[in-house]
Amino acid sequence: MAFEVRKFNQFVVLIVTSVFVSTKLSVGFPHLVHHPDEQDGLFEGDIILMPDQISGLKNLVNNKAQLWPNKTLYYDYTDNEFSIEQKHQIESAIQDLRHNTCVQFVRKSATTPSGITYINFRNLGLGCASTVGYHPIGVGLDMFLGGLRCHTHGTIQHELLHSLGFWHEHTRPDRDKHVDIQWSNIIPGREFNFKKRDISDTQYEGMPYDYGSVMHYRAQAFSKDRISPTIVPFNKEASILMGQRIRFSNVDIAKLNRLYSCPTGIYYLGDNLVDQESVTGNLYFNFKKLNSTNPDELEQIVAKGIENLNELSDE
Ligand SMILES: [Zn+2]
Repeated sequence: MAFEVRKFNQFVVLIVTSVFVSTKLSVGFPHLVHHPDEQDGLFEGDIILMPDQISGLKNLVNNKAQLWPNKTLYYDYTDNEFSIEQKHQIESAIQDLRHNTCVQFVRKSATTPSGITYINFRNLGLGCASTVGYHPIGVGLDMFLGGLRCHTHGTIQHELLHSLGFWHEHTRPDRDKHVDIQWSNIIPGREFNFKKRDISDTQYEGMPYDYGSVMHYRAQAFSKDRISPTIVPFNKEASILMGQRIRFSNVDIAKLNRLYSCPTGIYYLGDNLVDQESVTGNLYFNFKKLNSTNPDELEQIVAKGIENLNELSDE
């Protein structure tokens, strides 16, 4: 299936239409089927908790020590674990973040000071998972991108935002004003994935709830029958946005820039956020930058999403 970039607006309409005509909401858009970041056995599906996070579960945004020093995230990967295309996808996802924040992303090299902590991308077929925030261990912090489903633009950014200090959007303290958790539809024993964080654990009160965040769960996450929703948005149209793994949202990037105190005026801080309740506006943003900076990439990402959809529909 081919998409022409100059027909971008029609493509958005096509997506919205295809979702609404889907009776089960299980096909029509990649994020409506099982996510690789929803795995059993890990906290909220894809989070590796460090020992100091297991007891307190403090949100790192209240702990500046868990932000990357000098606003610099070092990373590396074992070359022979990733194909050329996969490495390109990782670099592309990083480059897209790099263009929108003052946070620096530096690949570890021979000139990198020894003893630094860095994100170590691994491809071991274990699904996608990341630690949350910076931890001064002085060696590599493994980030797992195992399997084709993890090697998409939005999923790589999802995991990178975890490592920069983001928890999942749907566990925000104020989420009950925006979504209704359907506890009876959750796979028994998996309710902890929907536990709300305490108000003392966040500094995001000033930022709008973001259905379109690349850190939000999809409507059917951990659904016991894979169809019944576990998260129902008060804004019904937002079902389309929830769980998108195309690209970070404008609020995601605004949060990142506030978290790392990026200079006002140089990087978008979210002071003039567009209406976050606008489904079309959010979808448009997710594609817009890619469309303007690298037209070929848009088509690749969309094609990859469709490919994943076809794979996952067979589950
Ligand atoms: Zn996650």
